[in-house]
Amino acid sequence: MIETLHPSPLSPLPSPPLRLSQSQLNRLAACPRRFQHTDLEQLAAPSEPDQQERQNQGTRFHLLMQQWLLGLPVEPLVQEDAQLQAWFDAFIAVAPKILTLGDDRPLWGQSEHARTLAFEGYLLTVVYDLLLANGQQAQILDWKTYPRPQNPRYLLQNWQTRLYPFVLAEASDYDPDRIAMIYWFFESGEQAPEARRFNAPYDRSQHEQTRTDLTHLLAQLTDWLERYQNGEPFPQVPLESKECDRCSFAIRCDRVVFQDHASQTQSAPDNAFSLPNLADIQEVSL
Ligand code: SF4
Repeated sequence: MIETLHPSPLSPLPSPPLRLSQSQLNRLAACPRRFQHTDLEQLAAPSEPDQQERQNQGTRFHLLMQQWLLGLPVEPLVQEDAQLQAWFDAFIAVAPKILTLGDDRPLWGQSEHARTLAFEGYLLTVVYDLLLANGQQAQILDWKTYPRPQNPRYLLQNWQTRLYPFVLAEASDYDPDRIAMIYWFFESGEQAPEARRFNAPYDRSQHEQTRTDLTHLLAQLTDWLERYQNGEPFPQVPLESKECDRCSFAIRCDRVVFQDHASQTQSAPDNAFSLPNLADIQEVSL
């Protein structure tokens, strides 16, 4: 539940150029009004305690991986933390498979590798958990500490999957078909810890489709920002969207009645806004 239930005057816009991360693009694509509340007005919705703890665990795991990749001791981090130990054991078991590009060329790698791309008047920012590269190819690796989504569409359409290789292709000498985006999931639910990968295909046509979609989304954002400066709030999702069902801004948006109605119609078909917002369960937010 949000902290305040009453609309406040529209906030002043940040000075351009606006920096945008994948989680912000996901919010914007899912619901422009939520982007307004969260990213322009900085309205925070307190996390549930168990959700907050999962995020904290994810953050600790990313720190652990960064330490290990830098050659620093990790024992102080995993001691007395069975969950971290299990995820780390899963990583170590597949590390030889993860930390290679499959040929004999000298391998370069950097954890928490950050890049920024100026695009359509905005600064697109990414932070790769690990970037591996040699003269021929590059791999963007991302660690996940929640189970792999059953439906690969959820990841394929997520802006992290699309933005991360796009920025690398635009800001390096690697052609799109020389870039891979790979998620490693270290949480296997009830099963024994096991790392599973999801390899998002990437090539020139995907790259150009991402450029087209990004250009369109950012043009919309520019239009919404101009209207916002003139006192018009960002658009909401349609009333029939299920996006409001799990949104903390439902009261502020006067969507509570529909929320109650929606809870009785669980069999409603998926729509364009029903993708899981990975940003909400992102371990390390940008
Ligand atoms: S309640 Fe619905 S319209 Fe309002 S911000 Fe959330 S998803 Fe958007």
